[in-house]
Amino acid sequence: MDVSEIILPGDTPGIEWRVPVMRFNGNDPAAPKVYIQAALHANELPGTALAHFLCGKLRQAESEGRIAGDITLVPQANSVGAAQSHFGELQGRFDLGSRTNFNRDFPLISIRDRAELLDGLDSYPAIDRLKRELIHMALGADLVLDLHCDDESLQYAYIDEAFWPEASDLAAALNMEAVLLSDGESSAFEEAVSFAWKYEVPGERKATLSGKLSVTVELRGRRDVYPGMAETDAEGLLQFLIGRGIVNGAPAVNSVFSGPAVPLDNVEIVRAPQGGTVLFHRDIGERVSEGELLATIVTRPGFVEGDIDIHAPQDGLFLTRTSDRLVRRRGDLMKIAADQPSKAARKAGTLED
Ligand SMILES: [Zn+2]
Repeated sequence: MDVSEIILPGDTPGIEWRVPVMRFNGNDPAAPKVYIQAALHANELPGTALAHFLCGKLRQAESEGRIAGDITLVPQANSVGAAQSHFGELQGRFDLGSRTNFNRDFPLISIRDRAELLDGLDSYPAIDRLKRELIHMALGADLVLDLHCDDESLQYAYIDEAFWPEASDLAAALNMEAVLLSDGESSAFEEAVSFAWKYEVPGERKATLSGKLSVTVELRGRRDVYPGMAETDAEGLLQFLIGRGIVNGAPAVNSVFSGPAVPLDNVEIVRAPQGGTVLFHRDIGERVSEGELLATIVTRPGFVEGDIDIHAPQDGLFLTRTSDRLVRRRGDLMKIAADQPSKAARKAGTLED
């Protein structure tokens, strides 16, 4: 294992950030290369915990000469965000300086222009420099896994239709409970990577990308950071790497992904019509039916006439919900992976800001 660091000079004097990068060199040039990063949203640590255990497994495999394809692992990709605290609370999703989501504004380029990502790095603010360094590394691989998590959530992933159903092996290996098929219309990391491949020939869009993968994995919720879970997830990811011929070894029992794989248009994002205290009647992981009572918002404590009931807009799987129990008007309450397209209009691109 080679360990190096991306060194980011700060935007003000006296500051510098460091991002560790682990590399395992494969012994088979024909094997696919993989890039795995975690905690780009700096407050999403399930992936960092997974990477911690995966690293141990990969070092073991390396000592046995079983690393076939090059593996790059960035267990904590965003030291800038990890250092952001506002009134004692970690702010890991948005850059406080620019208000930009750390997982947006990745450069949309053709893979042909990959080398140019590193041109004139000194002229970029630290966070843009970091984004260029990360995506440059990712575009040197065939398979790219960006490990995130949701708020309170099941295990699921955003996977571009261009990689589906080939990527169902990853969904099975990580025991995902749902897959959301995205349409690749944003500057999120995962979509910027697939953009570069789709437009290898600028102006000519490839619809399928066989042998490639770029995915945002949502490793359950933000508080789901436990040794047993992380170890199981790491073993699952190792099995995926074995299945794809990146690590040599005997695959464990072949599991099959049996969860729903739904287009983003089928995701019902249920919002709070008014602010108040939310009382959930149902939990993530449950199948819900159209019209079923999911939550009550207490807008005037002590007066039941102020209660607002929230009902399921259609049948589906209760995928995520907010961990805040005080919700604001129009705030997101939950996501349901529904059986039919949502009636709510959706712009192409990511579900959330
Ligand atoms: Zn995230």
